Amino acid sequence: MIPFLDLKAQYAGIKDELDAAVLAVLGSAQYVLGDEVARFEAEFADYCGTKHAVAVNTGTSALHLALLAAGVGPGDEVVTVPFTFVASVSAICYTGATPVLVDIEPTTFTMDPERIEAAITARTKAIVPVHLYGQMADMDAINEIADRYGLAVIEDACQAHGAEYFGHRAGSMGASGCFSFYPGKNLGACGEGGIVVTSDDKQAEMLRTLRDWGQSKRYHHVVKGYNYRMDGIQGAVLRVKLRHLERWTEARRAHARRYSELLADMPHLRKPVAAVGRRHVFHVYAVRSPDRDRLRLALEAEGIQTGLHYPIPVHLQPAHADLGYVSGDFPEAEAASREVLSLPLYPEMTNEQLAIVAAALEDCLHVA
Ligand SMILES: *Cc1c(COP(=O)(O)O)cnc(C)c1O
Repeated sequence: MIPFLDLKAQYAGIKDELDAAVLAVLGSAQYVLGDEVARFEAEFADYCGTKHAVAVNTGTSALHLALLAAGVGPGDEVVTVPFTFVASVSAICYTGATPVLVDIEPTTFTMDPERIEAAITARTKAIVPVHLYGQMADMDAINEIADRYGLAVIEDACQAHGAEYFGHRAGSMGASGCFSFYPGKNLGACGEGGIVVTSDDKQAEMLRTLRDWGQSKRYHHVVKGYNYRMDGIQGAVLRVKLRHLERWTEARRAHARRYSELLADMPHLRKPVAAVGRRHVFHVYAVRSPDRDRLRLALEAEGIQTGLHYPIPVHLQPAHADLGYVSGDFPEAEAASREVLSLPLYPEMTNEQLAIVAAALEDCLHVA
């Protein structure tokens, strides 16, 4: 059996450090925010190359607060993509603003900058590029348009911890950047977690206020806020794991290179493309094939778990039917959702496991 990811293997590798960190929080009784969360914020900001980081309870909350801190609200429009996890779009809805979708580039699966201007209206307030699978969107092109129209750029970096665009870390190129620490992400908590990074002092202050009931100080509620605070235990866990993140990321990148070598002679299988100047951190290694569903079943029969990220683009989800989009509106997102197949990929994977997956794919493609 080859699992899609193996969180038990990750835990086994850092058990002593992690256990000690969690027990220390239990003893300190700093269960919500506290010193470990504050230290993690400083360390994660440093990792991203930003001045501030504000820890919250999920990546979705991070997006919600980043949008609010950028002034997004009812009557506004926010441009994002349909080929993403639903949270990118839902967070926009939480603010009362309307998501306006634009299609993706088929090679990188990220926002196609060529399509942004046609989506901008007098109501547009912000752009939310999604760094899907661990590869940053074309940030220079997106920022150039945003600057010209006076729009805020909020990076959905929930899958892109440590990704880079010409040397700039994910999260550092927009007004703010949002990360998720859901357990399966490249940096994962032992539970839920998220963070917003920014180098803007005012945004950081507003984010801190919003995550903690809109308080300027205890029981002084200056804005309508939320209970989006990070747990102390998650702060401690994430501090331990952050120390291993670069090693894990390099392992992911090495596994991805190995997959691409092993799959090189399978012309009908399109491999992930890292665009020039971008450091892809391979949260997901997705191949593309018109025969995706058959491949998925064949691998499953061999005991190899795969994933679909994502089988239905957001504009065709019943939950977002009110946006008024129909099938055919975003052909690249729709084609990708039919063809992508995420192969098992996690740092602890062995070369033998990678070879087994590649061989199973090859067998299956030959039978076709
Ligand atoms: C995981 C994810 C989110 C949401 O993060 P949660 O921590 O699960 O709330 C948002 N956007 C993208 C692209 C994600 O992958």
